[in-house]
Amino acid sequence: MSISGGVSMAIERARSIDCTAMQIFVKNNMQWFARPLSRMEIRAFLDHVRRGELLSVFGHASYLINLATTNLQFHANSIRALAEELVRADQLQLPFLVLHPGAHLGAGEQAGLEKIVNSIDEVFRKIPNVKTKIALEITAGQGSCIGHRFEHLAHIIENVREPERLRVCLDTAHLFAAGYDISSESGVRKILREFDRVIGRDRLVAIHVNDSKTPCGSRVDRHEHIGKGRIGLDVFRFIMRSPRFRKIPKVLETPKSKDLAEDVINLNTLRRFAE
Ligand code: FE
Ligand code: FE
Ligand code: ZN
Repeated sequence: MSISGGVSMAIERARSIDCTAMQIFVKNNMQWFARPLSRMEIRAFLDHVRRGELLSVFGHASYLINLATTNLQFHANSIRALAEELVRADQLQLPFLVLHPGAHLGAGEQAGLEKIVNSIDEVFRKIPNVKTKIALEITAGQGSCIGHRFEHLAHIIENVREPERLRVCLDTAHLFAAGYDISSESGVRKILREFDRVIGRDRLVAIHVNDSKTPCGSRVDRHEHIGKGRIGLDVFRFIMRSPRFRKIPKVLETPKSKDLAEDVINLNTLRRFAE
């Protein structure tokens, strides 16, 4: 949900279309740094806790951040920006911040993974008291992006100093584009068993519910409205009905316009499955 006009505006937008879960950026996602949140902004935002209408609110890190980059200046910026975003998320009492692990830019997956592990250690060392966790998101594997295999996320979790500060976020469009064929219920069940074995089901904290414009295994990340893409409706029906996902917040990242009309249509499609 857009935070234009201030983070608390996102809550009003979400409630205007009856959302019970919401994902936000904690600052303008096209800028590296931002002035700190004011007391007033924080207080206005935290009012939602008192109102109790949103059951789950969490953050997504800026797309500029790349913990695996080979460019020294970008890497320094990434470390600082991620630490600052985690502080902001913590001030807003967000339980986790979703993060794309990074892109190795030609250095290779192994080198990239090692860089990500060291970077996460460095970020956490800077902010020992921040409670907001990082939720590593499965990626579509576009270009040199790491994180399109469960094994990548597991490797990061197993090698950082503070694995208890890491969680995982699934994205249906990314899974599909990465080559995980979730277009049938049997496919979904098989892939979830793999998730449980490689990562562990307790790590999952959120699902990005998106259809995909691109075919399975394309490694191209293009989100589409629910039922209008290549995945089909089976996985969405499964996610909305499965008891294992009942308490896992699910958010749309589908194309949207200012009046949120597309969100309402997508929400209705999904909610019908849950009835
Ligand atoms: Fe993402
Ligand atoms: Fe996503
Ligand atoms: Zn995506």
